[in-house]
Amino acid sequence: MENPVDSSRRKFIRNSSISAGALLLGPALSGLAAATPAKRLGIALVGLGGYSSGQLAPALQKTSNCYLAGIVTGTPSKAVEWSKKYNIPQKNIYNYQNFDDIAKNPDIDIVYIVLPVFMHKEYTIRAAQAGKHVICEKPMALNAAECREMIAACKKANRLLSIGYRLHFEPHTQEVMRLGQKQILGKVTQLETANGFTYNGDPNAWRIKKALAGGGGLMDMGIYAIQGARYTLGQEPIAVKATQEKTRPELFKDVDETVFWELKFPGGQKVTGKSSYNHDWGYLRAKTEKGSFELEPAYGYGGLDGKINGKPMQIPNNAQQAAQMDDFATCVNLKKQSRVPGEEGLKDMKVVDAIYRSLNSGRWESI
Ligand code: NAD
Repeated sequence: MENPVDSSRRKFIRNSSISAGALLLGPALSGLAAATPAKRLGIALVGLGGYSSGQLAPALQKTSNCYLAGIVTGTPSKAVEWSKKYNIPQKNIYNYQNFDDIAKNPDIDIVYIVLPVFMHKEYTIRAAQAGKHVICEKPMALNAAECREMIAACKKANRLLSIGYRLHFEPHTQEVMRLGQKQILGKVTQLETANGFTYNGDPNAWRIKKALAGGGGLMDMGIYAIQGARYTLGQEPIAVKATQEKTRPELFKDVDETVFWELKFPGGQKVTGKSSYNHDWGYLRAKTEKGSFELEPAYGYGGLDGKINGKPMQIPNNAQQAAQMDDFATCVNLKKQSRVPGEEGLKDMKVVDAIYRSLNSGRWESI
């Protein structure tokens, strides 16, 4: 006999793609050409650092709806190396000086911003103004005000904007969304989310400079833990109270190291979270009226794992980034909003901003 949990899981996954598809674009994007046949779209990666070279370029070898068509880099040796490795023609290679010329290149449909956070706003806006659809990496920007500017600029340019939230295309995460949002085991009563790693990198890296990264572990890792709470409950938090701890102040002189927070949701659930550049954390643990579910690892791309009422979920892992980019290419082809649009990045940044305000004020801050 069919397990009712499995049957309702299948329905949810089907319906979540349908409802994402049902978010058809409003009049703001009606200027896009009507009913063009689906084509394999060209993506240009901007910034060829760790994530582009280690994850996105390899993932683009597995995609069906898009491919690696171009690159933007300030390092001439990388241009040569990538051109050879991925067969990228010279005409599709840009640097930060001639970036805006990408407007004239019909091979590039989507520009994917994989730069340090302080550059996200500028390059997202320039890409949209060059007529390209945009994927921007997380955290979306330095703060919520920047996110709003990015959303407005893409809307004005009639271009779609999506955030690199790969987990929305990952099956364990989709299962947690289903369990929490559909209250399969009753309402979630308690939720704990945590994400962090022990930073032993370059003391001069952009990641630990406030002006370049916006903050430390909270911006980089905490964003996943915040979002984990939002997608498990399917609600938006209304207030937050946060505290922090610094054990290596010489390294993290400019940014947060470990941050703890409590979120107030309209449903009254007890929701706590933490982020760190000093602890290897990566979990999401929910207690519900009738049981429990959890993920650990919950946020990485090396494979997620989870339990429902203490028993293994037994869900296979997928190629998250390939699924994420293929979905966005489909959205562009169908002229529909992504399930992770700029607005989703803004929602997380509003929480991040409120956490920083609470660290300063020592009080609950509304979001
Ligand atoms: P990185 O430091 O490895 O790469 C950044 C790239 O930007 C480098 O190639 C660097 O040369 C280039 N760059 C251009 N101008 C620069 C400047 N003025 N200062 C510094 N670098 C400059 O970083 P990364 O790990 O690839 O992260 C890039 C983005 O991707 C960040 O937003 C990060 O949060 C995000 N990211 C996302 C995931 C994910 O799982 N979604 C994982 C890792 C990183």
